[in-house]
Amino acid sequence: MKGVVEPIFDVIVIGTGIGGSSLAALSARAGLKTLVLEKNPRVGGSCSYYEKDGFQIDFGTHLFSRGNRGPIGEVLKRVEAASRVKFVHPTRLSRIVGLGLDIPFYTSLLATPLTLYRSHRQLGIPFREFPGLLKMMSDFFWMPENKIAEWKDRTVEEFVFTRTRHPAILSLIGVMITLYFVYPYWKCSAGEAIWCTQRIIKARRFSYPRGGAAIIPRTMLEAAQGHGATLLTQARVRKILLEKGAARGVELADGRKFQGRAVVSTSSLKDTVFNLVGPEPFPAEFRKKVEGLKESLNAIQIKLALGRKVIKETSMIVLGSPSGNYRLQTASPAQVRKVSEDLEAGKIPELLFLYTVVPSNIDPGLAPPGKQLLNVATAFPHTSTRPQDPPEAWVEAMMKTLLKAVPEIEPHILWKEVIGAQAIESWIGKPGGPLISTVQVPGQVGQDRPAIRSPIPGLYFAGDGAGARGIGTELAAQSAIECAEILDSDFRNGSISLRTGGKMLS
Ligand SMILES: Cc1cc2nc3c(=O)[nH]c(=O)nc-3n(C[C@H](O)[C@H](O)[C@H](O)COP(=O)(O)OP(=O)(O)OC[C@H]3O[C@@H](n4cnc5c(N)ncnc54)[C@H](O)[C@@H]3O)c2cc1C
Repeated sequence: MKGVVEPIFDVIVIGTGIGGSSLAALSARAGLKTLVLEKNPRVGGSCSYYEKDGFQIDFGTHLFSRGNRGPIGEVLKRVEAASRVKFVHPTRLSRIVGLGLDIPFYTSLLATPLTLYRSHRQLGIPFREFPGLLKMMSDFFWMPENKIAEWKDRTVEEFVFTRTRHPAILSLIGVMITLYFVYPYWKCSAGEAIWCTQRIIKARRFSYPRGGAAIIPRTMLEAAQGHGATLLTQARVRKILLEKGAARGVELADGRKFQGRAVVSTSSLKDTVFNLVGPEPFPAEFRKKVEGLKESLNAIQIKLALGRKVIKETSMIVLGSPSGNYRLQTASPAQVRKVSEDLEAGKIPELLFLYTVVPSNIDPGLAPPGKQLLNVATAFPHTSTRPQDPPEAWVEAMMKTLLKAVPEIEPHILWKEVIGAQAIESWIGKPGGPLISTVQVPGQVGQDRPAIRSPIPGLYFAGDGAGARGIGTELAAQSAIECAEILDSDFRNGSISLRTGGKMLS
């Protein structure tokens, strides 16, 4: 390969989100000579951050559904960095507020009866619904794996209809699952939703780390560098280079070339196949499969700085109806569906829901003394879809919804900043800006997820696009674990040879 910058690496990882940073740490820890390339000036992908007026602001809007008890914790443990990330599992975890609801969620199981009682009263759930609801709750706790597998290719909507058709319950499950997978709930895999919920309940670690979301990829990358990995930022990969039909390196936008025995892309499969490699070397059937992959929606976020601490919870799900026409207690199934159809079309839905995280309640150091920052997000279409309502109208509707449900914040707003869908796309580099690049719908979960080994020898996919199970960041971390194990096996069995001086740890 001409013009290659020495040395030659065992593994080149593209991207430093949770997927790329986890993989870099695991592969460097395993003794592989690892190069990590990040196009942005700052690492972390979706979990990166920026600073303004003394606030450290998450680029995304994150909570971690299993904290140190999920795959992120597992990676940190494997690379001996677990003590460097402190996940905090707050007592006042969340609150559903708006449209006449104010339901608190505490982490203590002892508080569950209070939450159930308030939900029953405020949602107006009649006693005749209780058997179905209890059955559904027991599924979310205990459905056995073989039954979960039976639900993998059926939708959440089909599943809920076997238990209840109560409009308020349907609406709230719609909101929760759309937040899990950032996709219309009625298209998402029921099996995957139940699998994820069971893990969340069993782990009891819905949490957020001290130091902000960015501490996670940063710690992974420090661990990688501690094991000899090389990290380059402002290093955009323009092309994945093939030689004799196998991936052999990358070329950066500035012309530098690096050689590696294996290349792992954590961009979306569509980007990797159609842009970074180019479609020709892939078998036609594989190209077709990647072309047809469903990606999640993008988002609009508002970062809202407050002059004092107003919100007590770590997160809130804020509900509102900009048109005034949505009634939780009477919405028809078609109306519930229409909410997410509108999200996909970029039309402000009748039921608007805002995922709101308050990181400084976990780590006061993320805001100047006495101040608070709210990360407020809602799903929004890919940049390839022309939204029916312009982003400015969305921001206005989001603010009105927030201020109607939580009016006490209004007098304390210092400033607001919008991170739109284009900004997300450009930061994470995945065309369209999907929050989850292979979304968990029937046909794209479990064994049907795109494989980590690509059809091209030496080329692998990791991150939220390939392999694994779980929600967002945990999907990406689990995928990195699976990818590291596959690389380990491929290096050991000689399908990739260790010609670069790397030495596998036993
Ligand atoms: C607003 C928002 C809210 C979210 N909320 C949650 C939540 O609450 N909980 C949760 O678990 N998940 C959440 N997610 C989803 C979660 O963040 C992602 O699924 C996960 O972090 C993706 O990790 P990744 O490693 O696959 O990719 P990313 O984090 O997207 O990282 C990809 C990286 O690759 C780099 N890259 C891409 N192309 C190139 C190239 N050609 N050359 C060099 N570098 C390149 C990018 O710059 C980026 O750093 C949210 C995401 C967003 C944006």
